[in-house]
Amino acid sequence: MKKLAFVFLSLCVILLSFYSYKLLNEISARNVYNEGVNPSETSEIEGDNLVDKKAMIENEDLELILDNLKNQKGHNLILANKWNPLGEDFEPVPIKDAAGDVPSTKDKMLLQEEAYDAVISLFEEANKEGIEGLWVVSGYRPYSYQSKLFNAKVNSFSSQYDLETAKVKASEIVAIPGTSEHQTGLAIDFSSSELLRTSDPLVEAFKDTAQGQWLYNNSWKFGFVLRYSSDKKEITGIISEPWHFRYVGIPHAQYMTYNNLCLEEYIDYIKAEKEFIFEDFFGNKYLIGYVQKENHDILLNEEFSLEKVINVSEIAEEEYIVTLKLY
Ligand SMILES: [Zn+2]
Repeated sequence: MKKLAFVFLSLCVILLSFYSYKLLNEISARNVYNEGVNPSETSEIEGDNLVDKKAMIENEDLELILDNLKNQKGHNLILANKWNPLGEDFEPVPIKDAAGDVPSTKDKMLLQEEAYDAVISLFEEANKEGIEGLWVVSGYRPYSYQSKLFNAKVNSFSSQYDLETAKVKASEIVAIPGTSEHQTGLAIDFSSSELLRTSDPLVEAFKDTAQGQWLYNNSWKFGFVLRYSSDKKEITGIISEPWHFRYVGIPHAQYMTYNNLCLEEYIDYIKAEKEFIFEDFFGNKYLIGYVQKENHDILLNEEFSLEKVINVSEIAEEEYIVTLKLY
């Protein structure tokens, strides 16, 4: 009898434990759902948002976004080459004079503001690393100045050739007005103290100097790229110029340098990719993409918001490359 009672009691304990375990589980499960949102509800919400966002962008709000981008436009990635000349009235704004701030060979060394800030940081770091004798030789050149240089060259050929041939000959040596990157205010020619004592400080030998080497290895950290390298001359239309650096902004400079892309290739790459996320050397994360009226996937990206836009470059009429800093 005692044995039977023991078995009965044991059974009761087992059953009780089982039900209390089940009950506890249910309670904690309910708590989870109370604290958070049911996963199936989340996907419904996101789905609705996406539909709303798409509808919004496909309507007149796209015009608003495009207008907004137009108003914010800087031009870090603007392309100036013989196939994409800048207009006579293109001027970089705002513009600053770097002559008193960094070693310059001219009394005035105008640069677009972002390039100005970047070159000051670049010189600070170069000095810290013991690089001396680095000079800025050329910065912003207005269209009118480029015209003067070009016409002088054409005139120098006019006794030997007819006007058209003289122009072609001149264009092999001096950039046709509108096609010089110096008109963007984002291009800088550098040289060294040693080369400045020679008749031509802008020569291929600059790449073998300590200053040229340092720029080659470090300028991307400040948003500059070596713009004309010998392996890209078919694409850029310009032979090797180891002294000519172009400001494009840090994420772009790092991406282009690490992937060996010149500006023409990089712009084509962004247009083909439509959008991509990139984390730079400093741990900053960017969303980079292409926006045009009929082609604007990046606006649907859940990370997209106008407040995060740090640069808008108009690469052609109503065609933009936008850069958003995510963190
Ligand atoms: Zn140059």
